[in-house]
Amino acid sequence: MGQIIMHIDVNSAFLSWTAAYEQQMGIDRDIRTVPSVIGGNEQNRHGIVLAKSTPAKKFKIQTGMSLMEARQLCPNLLVIPPNYRVYVRASKTLREYLMKFTPDVQPFSIDECFLKFTDLKREEAAELAYKIKDGVKEKFGYTVNIGVSENKLLAKQAGDLEKPDKCHTIFPDEIKEKLWVLPVEDLFMVGRRTKPKLNRWGIYTIGDLAASDYNFISTMLKSHGRMIYNYAWGRDDSVFKEKSPIKSVGNSSTLKFNVDNRETAHAILLSLTEMTALRLREANMNCRVVSVSIKDKDFGYEAKQRKLMYFTDCTRDIYQNICSLFDELWDRRPIRQLGVSVSDLEFSHIKQTNIFQDELSIKNEILDKAVDKIRVKYGDEAVIRGVFANSDLSPILGGYPDDEYPGMGSIL
Ligand SMILES: [Mg+2]
Repeated sequence: MGQIIMHIDVNSAFLSWTAAYEQQMGIDRDIRTVPSVIGGNEQNRHGIVLAKSTPAKKFKIQTGMSLMEARQLCPNLLVIPPNYRVYVRASKTLREYLMKFTPDVQPFSIDECFLKFTDLKREEAAELAYKIKDGVKEKFGYTVNIGVSENKLLAKQAGDLEKPDKCHTIFPDEIKEKLWVLPVEDLFMVGRRTKPKLNRWGIYTIGDLAASDYNFISTMLKSHGRMIYNYAWGRDDSVFKEKSPIKSVGNSSTLKFNVDNRETAHAILLSLTEMTALRLREANMNCRVVSVSIKDKDFGYEAKQRKLMYFTDCTRDIYQNICSLFDELWDRRPIRQLGVSVSDLEFSHIKQTNIFQDELSIKNEILDKAVDKIRVKYGDEAVIRGVFANSDLSPILGGYPDDEYPGMGSIL
C-alpha cells in the first residue's frame, strides 16, 4: 500500500475532441476514420498540423508539419480549423470527471493531468486505471492513455509506452525491463538538442544513460544533465501540485500594421479583452486588477495597471478600464503590439454582489454568459460586436498560451 500516481493523456486530443464534439452536434461523419488533421489557419503562413487522425499517420503526416507539406503527402487530406473553446471545455469536463476518483488532480497541459491516490495497492491501481480509461471512452466518446506508477515521471513514461487506448505501469522494479530498453530520446526532457550529444557519448538508450558516469553528465550538461540522469533511474521528487492556481490571464497581439489612431486601438483592445474575459470565465475566476501594455514601432514598451473596486469577469467592465488605461498611457507613437491582462484572481463562487457594481454591469455579466454559450456551440465568430462587422479586424484575438498550464512540457 502506498502512493499511486496516474498520468492521463488524451490520444490525439484536438482531433478526438473535435470528433466527439461533431458527433454530439449530430454531424454525420467521423473524422477519426479518414485522413484528417486539425490545423491552424491556412490563409496565414503559420498553418501547421496540430493533431492528426490514425489514417493520416499512415501518410507520414506529423504534428508540427506545415499544412502545405501535409497536403503534398495526402492530397485528399481533410483539414479542420482548431476550436479552442471546445478543447478548453472538454479539458475541464474531463478533469471534473477525474475528480470523481480522487480530489488530487494536477493539470499538466490541456490534455494531460496527474492523479494522486494514497493507500492503493498495485493491483487495485491497475484495475482502477482500466476503469477510468473505459469510463472516459464510454462517457465522452474518445480514448485516453493511462500510465501508473509511484511518481509523476514514471507514470508519464508509462503512459507514453504504447498508444492509443492503453494502460501501462512502470513501477520501480519494472524500470529495467520497461524503461531502460527505450531509446534515450523517449525520456522526458531529453529533447532534440540533447539527443545528439548523448549519442556522441555512446548513450543510445535510457539504460545507457542510467549506466553512464554521473559526474561526466553533470559536468557536461549541468543541472539539466543531473535531472535526466535521475529520471533515467526513475527518480522524481517533484511535489504534487494540486490545482495549479492561475495568477493572471492575458493576451497580446503583434499587429499586422502599425496602429496610429485611438479608435482602431480600442477595437483591438476589445478583441483582446473578449478572449481574456472568456478565459477568465472558463476558469470560473474573477479579477480585480486589469492591465494594458503597448509596444511601439521602435520597440519601446509601456504598461499600466489598475485595481478595480470589485472583482469581475464582465467583458464590458474590463474593457472600459482597459480603454481608459490605454488613453492615459498612449503617447500617440505608432503601435506595434497591444496586450491585455487581468490578475489578482479569485474563484467566482466566492464573489458577492458589490455596491460599486451598477445594474448595467450585472446585466452585462448575464449577456456574457449567453454569448459564451453561443460561441462554444457555433464558433468564435457566431456572435461579434458591432464594431467588427465589415471590418478586417479579428473579433476575438489570442489563444490559450501555455501560461495557463504551468507544468506544460517542462516541469513535472
Ligand atoms: Mg495527448
